[in-house]
Amino acid sequence: MGYCVLIFLIGITGCSPEEPISEIKNFKAETAENFIAATLKISSGVTNHESGNYTISDFEDLSEENCSITEFGLVFFGYFQDFLQDPYFDFNLMNYYLDLHQKYVTHYRGENYFGENGEYNQLAQKRIRELTMFWNLRREIIVNGQHTASLDDLQILADMIESFDNSIRNREEAYNKAASLLKINALSSNLPESPYFALDAFTKANGLLVIGDGLIESIAAIGVDDEIVFTAIIAHEWWHQAQYEYSTNWNESQGLSKPEASRFIELEADFAAAYFMTHKRGATYNWKRIEDFFKLSFNIGDCLPQSNTHHGTPEQRLNAARLGYELVDIAQKKGFVLSPEEVHSFFIKNLERVY
Ligand SMILES: [Zn+2]
Repeated sequence: MGYCVLIFLIGITGCSPEEPISEIKNFKAETAENFIAATLKISSGVTNHESGNYTISDFEDLSEENCSITEFGLVFFGYFQDFLQDPYFDFNLMNYYLDLHQKYVTHYRGENYFGENGEYNQLAQKRIRELTMFWNLRREIIVNGQHTASLDDLQILADMIESFDNSIRNREEAYNKAASLLKINALSSNLPESPYFALDAFTKANGLLVIGDGLIESIAAIGVDDEIVFTAIIAHEWWHQAQYEYSTNWNESQGLSKPEASRFIELEADFAAAYFMTHKRGATYNWKRIEDFFKLSFNIGDCLPQSNTHHGTPEQRLNAARLGYELVDIAQKKGFVLSPEEVHSFFIKNLERVY
């Protein structure tokens, strides 16, 4: 399963438009060696590898300036070290949980909470309300939270297993399997408590946004205000929905290679997120705090320009965000909100300042 970007927008075939645009990739790995390699990759952004088979050349790009492992990468190394020290940790079970959980948050519809203990519920409501008015998209947007606690709840875990584990034939079997997994969870200090199990952040053409607690926690761990992290993620993902909505008219990335198209789409999402975040009718943050987010979370930008899910280098992501802030400033009439089309055309006109 390879992730792809906006088939409608970029006109590249080979992947379904139903596949998500993913901000970060949590890896499946069969061995510790695989996991080390995967952790190196994730700390630099994204990869196309599903499991293992890494070569030295995969890492050569990382040696470029600005592309070394930074604090965000170290957060992931920390998770990995915890796994290795945990006698009950099991890579197969890790993969199983990652798979179940991603499917669950993709298909779940119902009540949601944000943050491990609902600490972002109010913020989420506020941002959803603001973003709805700010961009005025026609589509219905659903925001699902993702929580490690779901993998430790008998009822929810049994639901996941019954729905997505093909080896399970009925509800009773699902319950039995969930109950036996909860016993392993009880012994392990990482299964499923590690933020690694709620790391998803992606969006789909059907209006779904997913925001994992683990990603917020991981970025906050390097010193970024957690509310800014939450806001930056939801604002970035929301713009991907604008890209879906206007996909028939916005065709600048047509004809680009997959990595180039991905970079374009992602940098525009950073740009638009910064516009929303610093606008008076948006999240009203001052630029300095936004800049901190983009500087500190540099490594979510990646240094693998050949990757099909390339998000732009850290520097390009910061440039894009700065351009979004400038757009607020240029317009001067701070109460005035530009339409998605106007924001998009400003980005196109100023693209050379980003790249
Ligand atoms: Zn994105």
